[in-house]
Amino acid sequence: MRCSPYYSKPSFFNSLLILLDSSRLLIIPVRIVARMRIGKIPGINPVVIPITKDTITTSKIQALKIPINLKATAPGLRVATFFIPRLRKGMGFDLIKTMNDLTSPSDTQVGLGDMPAEEFRQYGHQLIDWIADFLANVGNLPAFPNIQPGDVLSKLPGAPPIQGETMNEILADVDRVIMPGMAHWNHPRFFAYFTSSGSGPGILGELLSAAFNVNSMLWHSCPSATELEQATNDWLRQMVGLPPEFWGIIYDGGSSSTFHAIAAARDQFAELKIRERGLAGRSDLPQLRIYTSDQGHSSIDKAAVALGLGLDSVRRIAVDDRYQMDPRALDGAIAEDRSNDILPFCVVATVGSTSCTSIDPIPAISSICEREGLWLHVDAAHGGAAAIVPEMRYVLDGCDRADSIVINPHKWLFVPLDLSVLYTRKPEVLRRAFSLVPEYLRTASGDEVVNYMDYGIPLGRRFRALKLWFTVRYFGVEGITRRIREHIRLAAQFAEWVDKHTEFERLAPVPLSTICFRARRQGVDDDDESLNRLNEQLLQAINHTGEAFLSHTKLSGRFALRLVVSHLRTSEEHVSRVWAIAQEQLRILKMAP
Ligand code: PLP
Repeated sequence: MRCSPYYSKPSFFNSLLILLDSSRLLIIPVRIVARMRIGKIPGINPVVIPITKDTITTSKIQALKIPINLKATAPGLRVATFFIPRLRKGMGFDLIKTMNDLTSPSDTQVGLGDMPAEEFRQYGHQLIDWIADFLANVGNLPAFPNIQPGDVLSKLPGAPPIQGETMNEILADVDRVIMPGMAHWNHPRFFAYFTSSGSGPGILGELLSAAFNVNSMLWHSCPSATELEQATNDWLRQMVGLPPEFWGIIYDGGSSSTFHAIAAARDQFAELKIRERGLAGRSDLPQLRIYTSDQGHSSIDKAAVALGLGLDSVRRIAVDDRYQMDPRALDGAIAEDRSNDILPFCVVATVGSTSCTSIDPIPAISSICEREGLWLHVDAAHGGAAAIVPEMRYVLDGCDRADSIVINPHKWLFVPLDLSVLYTRKPEVLRRAFSLVPEYLRTASGDEVVNYMDYGIPLGRRFRALKLWFTVRYFGVEGITRRIREHIRLAAQFAEWVDKHTEFERLAPVPLSTICFRARRQGVDDDDESLNRLNEQLLQAINHTGEAFLSHTKLSGRFALRLVVSHLRTSEEHVSRVWAIAQEQLRILKMAP
């Protein structure tokens, strides 16, 4: 039994309150009791003594011969107040010792082991209740907090607690410390970045995954995790209409997926022996080249950095007026590079670019890649989900000819962060790039099983497939389709409101459900810097209301407010409200001197 420091100084207190339920005994110094309400114990480490139903009974407590006042406060919970008149030195210790004698033998492992099951159950229920209330009411909280940098940090102790703390204290600090600094990604008016929805089934899948806490590096390290991942990846493949030869693997995010795709693309040139000899100090290698449009995601550049290719290896291709890669410009760039002895090896095309969800012409780009022998990776991290909707399936046209494609269920598929699926038609190339099996991870299973550790950097892999499985099963393909379709409808409606308003304008087409728009001023030149400033102020003003949260981008040098309608909890009412807020805030800004 672990004693808190309070009990090593028994003269500190003169009576104790003991809370009893069917499995637990809390012993708290009375000076603290005086300041607390039951269930809230600020700033104190009560000793939690796990007991079994049989080990402590009223009669056994009474056998302590301490005046006792037992009363029921709630079903299953009794509060026993012990009065210890005229405390003598050491009595606190004696009492604890006597209590120890009453506990079951299995509880005598002093200070070791996990939280007792009954305590886990109690706080687990409490936390689930808290989460259910939070999800039901998150729309009434500020979407973004009114907070300064350092505000959260200043409420946190600079050093870890030496003694363990109670779950009551920890949970109380979620309200006190964490909540005031939360940007609520689960808010129905969170329209920033690419949203991510923590759906109920996804959250429960995540919880179960934490409880299992398996490592799905090898089939042998957890067969269920490996095989569920195989199954769910294949479900998603079918949902977006990719052909069966696409094989999937889950990584933490789109950036990781793209990194692994580019690494595999590089490994196609096995004769360069980059895996064995690396890049540094080699004069026998040409400069390698990756192509992406000037709307391609920054994860492509990061992959180039991490793979030792350098930022210069990424060549940005011009886009048309719809922000789609121009295939002729790609063709020209490849030819030019070849004539300069640069080795093209990979094209990253995008379905749903980050700024404005533009969709590159994949069929034309595929033809170029096939002709030139280049690996085509499609970044459909956000946009790929739209292909689940039958009438939107065309967004992935041509992707059946790609070498790899990434889709992030943690973006528009209502699966909580973090879950990205990389599909490739050439898993053997990915495997060649990353497989490395030390003796201690060798298994007898052979090639009939998948060992996901062979296909990437991470060795330890969480059981992420559970939350994808829960989410797809709970909503069904049909339920997911209806939700994504509604987002697309709401975005089209918002775009129409912008188009019809004399003081706003749209800055890009809306192929999916993201609208890039800005306020404009009659008689002010399109490219005037003052328009950029006005729109920056407008964004700040909208976000300052706390009612909604938007982010921004720049398109052709113009500052655009960016509204993404892809959150599970967003409905027409929320989209109407943010439009009203935008108009209201613009009016206020225009009235300002
Ligand atoms: N690709 C696109 C088009 C994105 O918009 C993003 C992130 O928003 C990524 C890739 C990176 O995804 P992740 O944040 O999961 O690494």
